[in-house]
Amino acid sequence: MSDIFSIDNEYIAHTYGRFPIALVSGKGAKIKDVDGKEYIDLGSGIAVNIFGIADDEWQKAVTEQLGKLQHTSNLYYTEPCAKLAELLCTRTGMKKVFYGNSGAEANECAIKAARLYSYTKYGEGRSTIITLKNSFHGRTITTLAATGQDTFHTKFGPFTEGFVYCEADNIEELNRLANENNCCAVMFEVVQGEGGIHVLSKEFVAEIDKIAKEKDLVIIVDEVQTGNGRTGKLYGYMNYDIMPDVVTTAKGIGGGLPIGLCMLGEKMKDVFTPGTHGSTFGGNPVCSAGAYSIMSRIDDKLMAEVAEKSAYIKAELEGAKGVKSVSGMGLMLGIETERSAADIIKEAMERGVLVLSAKTKVRLLPPLNIKTEDLKKAIAILKEVIGK
Ligand SMILES: *Cc1c(COP(=O)(O)O)cnc(C)c1O
Repeated sequence: MSDIFSIDNEYIAHTYGRFPIALVSGKGAKIKDVDGKEYIDLGSGIAVNIFGIADDEWQKAVTEQLGKLQHTSNLYYTEPCAKLAELLCTRTGMKKVFYGNSGAEANECAIKAARLYSYTKYGEGRSTIITLKNSFHGRTITTLAATGQDTFHTKFGPFTEGFVYCEADNIEELNRLANENNCCAVMFEVVQGEGGIHVLSKEFVAEIDKIAKEKDLVIIVDEVQTGNGRTGKLYGYMNYDIMPDVVTTAKGIGGGLPIGLCMLGEKMKDVFTPGTHGSTFGGNPVCSAGAYSIMSRIDDKLMAEVAEKSAYIKAELEGAKGVKSVSGMGLMLGIETERSAADIIKEAMERGVLVLSAKTKVRLLPPLNIKTEDLKKAIAILKEVIGK
């Protein structure tokens, strides 16, 4: 085991601060480390394993496809990515899908789509995109530029130009930025994930919608974390009264395999023409077959379960000793605690529960189908650790 740590530390670029456990296998919300210690996972590999570890149906879909054909390139047609795109469009009302492999790539596509839409219709110069302060859109140079946090805007410059940042829920600032800049789009998460589980207000989202309609701005909703049932609806925007022009997603839709995608609505569906965008692995048949299995199982019954579990967690933690507040929607929750999130994460881990942080909060992103007994056990431990 110490071997894994020392080899990893020696040979893997130090971009991550890892916790000192090495994970090997699991089932559902339970995961084991190399010493055989079992944990209840309330993080899902950061909102990825939405049906937990080694889910039977997903595994079957993936391995069946793996036995047939693992990759073709985008020079040819394959069934899994076509069927997944059809399912996504049918369930959302979006019209076309572009496939990439990560959240950042999905957002890169959305940014290109918005600028291309504007360029095609209005010509050069109308390229500014309003994003929100405390947002997170990815780690590529352009998605870092889109991310409205100053800490991400150093050391790697020059960054991609054309992003301005609006305080979340500040309607006045939104109007000012939209009037002062030559904008083509507004891009946001309906629940800011990495930014600290902040749920956007209904009024603010309605104002985005209003301004976007007045000025023909492209509404891009980044659903990389909020998407695929996480908030209790298929996509987070469905908690609001809007129809976005572009929706990006990744994380949970792959069920654990890398897939990111950008959905284009009615006004955007024909922006891309051959040669304007692409990805070698995009639409990979194995990832698509797995994602199809995931997507076809996010139904009303599951969403009712998510709402119930969300209510349970909130009822347990709100007002509990050491808890200042609980924010979020569905199974995307942030807990503001009196003790430091880092200490809580460490002690919960020692006691067999994996949780995450978001800024100063403890963040919970459990598998959507976590068994009630596992959830109860984990929340009881977490409550003790928070209240210590
Ligand atoms: C995780 C995340 C991303 C980046 O996704 P990657 O797959 O790591 O590139 C982008 N936007 C949001 C909202 C995210 O939570």
